[in-house]
Amino acid sequence: MRSPLSDKSGSPEQPTRLEVELETRDLSVYYGSHLAVKQVSLKIPKNHITAFIGPSGCGKSTILRCFNRMNDLIPGARVEGSVIFHGKNIYDPDVDPSEVRRRVGLVFQKPNPFPKSIYDNIAFGPRINGYQGDLDELVERALRQAVLWDEVKDKLRMSALSLSGGQQQRLCIARTLAIQPEVILMDEPCASLDPISTLRIEELLKELGRRYTIIIVTHNMQQAARVSDFTAFFNTELDERGIRYGRMVEFDRTEKIFNSPANRETEEYVSGRFG
Ligand code: ADP
Repeated sequence: MRSPLSDKSGSPEQPTRLEVELETRDLSVYYGSHLAVKQVSLKIPKNHITAFIGPSGCGKSTILRCFNRMNDLIPGARVEGSVIFHGKNIYDPDVDPSEVRRRVGLVFQKPNPFPKSIYDNIAFGPRINGYQGDLDELVERALRQAVLWDEVKDKLRMSALSLSGGQQQRLCIARTLAIQPEVILMDEPCASLDPISTLRIEELLKELGRRYTIIIVTHNMQQAARVSDFTAFFNTELDERGIRYGRMVEFDRTEKIFNSPANRETEEYVSGRFG
């Protein structure tokens, strides 16, 4: 399989060598005895946006959850292979999953603010982590980064649940930013939002993608094409017993995946022939 990160030719569109933030090696996930996704090996570039696309059930969310060990919380889920983060397999027995989750934040599909004030939503994680600095300043910075500050600065003590859906999702992104992660995972972050709110989140992602490593699962191919630098296409396949499992078909720069993919399955998917 072609990998954009194995290209060391220094081609014009790739003037600097990409740094790898996270790498999966032969990563497979089972739910009970069911193999959900098989032997995924890919390298996620640092400070870029990588999109996972593919038909429903091909394992995009399952692989996403491996990057911060969220599958640990699903009874019966089992992971094989490794996820290397700064030279260390995060599945090694001496790794603390809560430390992984602090460094690799997750934004869910549906905005899920706590039933607390806007301020306390953002301050929650830093307080738990024993943040010693100026909390007001941290809250403001996170809200500014999430392009929400101007809309909420006069009502920080109001309930986060009083915000619109799009504002709630930006609040959840700000809450993730407040714990100062290195990587942000997003599982269909615009799925429940209207088109205007979706565009605002996409603009925000493009801005954040310069400073953070972002991995986004999306059902929306146009969204992947608009916001991401790299795209991994997943699909399902039948094993010899006729049981369906997911696998990664192709991973490359987004423009390559959408304009001249190496694999016929990818071509058929991005041109809308299935999925
Ligand atoms: P996608 O995100 O591409 O839609 P998922 O990762 O959600 O795919 O699902 C991949 C496969 O794993 C599917 O067969 C799905 O039914 C199964 N699966 C996902 N989550 C669970 C779970 N919590 N328990 C059991 N099976 C699951």
